[in-house]
Amino acid sequence: MEKPIIEIKNVTKIYKVGNEKVLALDNVSLDINEGDFCCLLGTSGSGKSTLLNLMAGIEKITKGEIIIKGKDITKMGEHQLAKFRQKYLGFVFQSYNLIGSLTALENVTLPLIFKEVPNKKRIQMATEMLKSVGLEERMKHKPTQMSGGQQQRVGIARAFVSKPEIVFADEPTGNLDTKTTMEIMDIIKKVASENHQTIVMVTHDKRIAEYADKVVNIHDGHIENIEILGGNKNEKNN
Ligand code: ADP
Ligand code: MG
Repeated sequence: MEKPIIEIKNVTKIYKVGNEKVLALDNVSLDINEGDFCCLLGTSGSGKSTLLNLMAGIEKITKGEIIIKGKDITKMGEHQLAKFRQKYLGFVFQSYNLIGSLTALENVTLPLIFKEVPNKKRIQMATEMLKSVGLEERMKHKPTQMSGGQQQRVGIARAFVSKPEIVFADEPTGNLDTKTTMEIMDIIKKVASENHQTIVMVTHDKRIAEYADKVVNIHDGHIENIEILGGNKNEKNN
């Protein structure tokens, strides 16, 4: 069998706040396969964002290993981790995190600048990506000149433009209405499957989790169970 693209092994995360300790993740293990659309589903405070942030190298782990593409990212130095993220990972945020002074097109070219893609090629790639999220008419608009749904499409275009193998998304539709949510989910699913990308998405909303093919139910810092959708398999967590 193929090796999972992400391997989470006995991961514990404890936050220290003054003298208090918060056990946010308690010995969690999980494999995510290449091309999976995986949702981390759970109520607020269950540890979803913590797990995502550890996978993305944004938070420091307390115990355990997180192996992505065969490399333990918890053992990487800052520089190595930054390079790794640039090469393999994309991010979609709930609050879009677009740069307000830049147009949609400029926002989407940003990751390509960091990757040192030549100017002409950058514009071509960003334009194509914005078209595929249905924003060809909004290329020159700045974030404040767009609706929330449009801003998130820019956010998606930016996350996917360099075709990262893995895209992490934390409640990407959390600020959007139901109709726009469905549109955004369809776009993410379409773009990801076209490029055979792996998606790990955090949500508290069961209806959103239904877009995934693997739903990881998280409760109180534990994985309760993993549901494989689309088939009738129900894989129990180890
Ligand atoms: P979720 O994303 O599922 O809502 P989080 O992963 O954000 O949950 O949080 C899990 C637990 O860890 C919660 O009890 C939360 O209060 C705590 N927590 C999260 N981030 C921090 C932090 N930076 N410092 C201290 N405690 C935190
Ligand atoms: Mg969260």
